[in-house]
Amino acid sequence: MEITFNCPKCNQELAVDASAAGSEITCPVQNCGEKMVVPAPNTTNIHPMNPMASSAAAKEEHHFKVPVHEGPTEVLVAKVMPTLEVAADGEKKLRIRCIKRTECVEVGKDKFEEVVSAFLGKIGETNVVSINTINYTHIDMGTRAILTDFGVMIVFKG
Ligand SMILES: [Zn+2]
Repeated sequence: MEITFNCPKCNQELAVDASAAGSEITCPVQNCGEKMVVPAPNTTNIHPMNPMASSAAAKEEHHFKVPVHEGPTEVLVAKVMPTLEVAADGEKKLRIRCIKRTECVEVGKDKFEEVVSAFLGKIGETNVVSINTINYTHIDMGTRAILTDFGVMIVFKG
């Protein structure tokens, strides 16, 4: 799910992954650079191209793929690619994807670089506008401590 909203200064339409709601971002438009907070998703600004139905269908597909005896990860990646390419064929919009390091830690293993590399590979080098580092705070589920961590904000056309 993604949130679309307009820069309050230059009015550029921006699309941001819903997980970035509440994060402060800098407008990627040259000569603008307005700092703004990503709004929380609501029914009026959720992108109509991504209804709940499509993610449910994706999950279902995943479910049926599991018993097949071939590299399941590779199959899923291959399935995702055409969807992104089709989306890119339409009107290209400036999009922002925030990848937080904590979201990439699986079973204590840090896959941050892997996830970022895979994402960059998917959108394609020519569509990357800029890559910025971000800092954010989050509450550790186990200790309830407030931790500071980092991630990247990738601005791309798609
Ligand atoms: Zn702007």
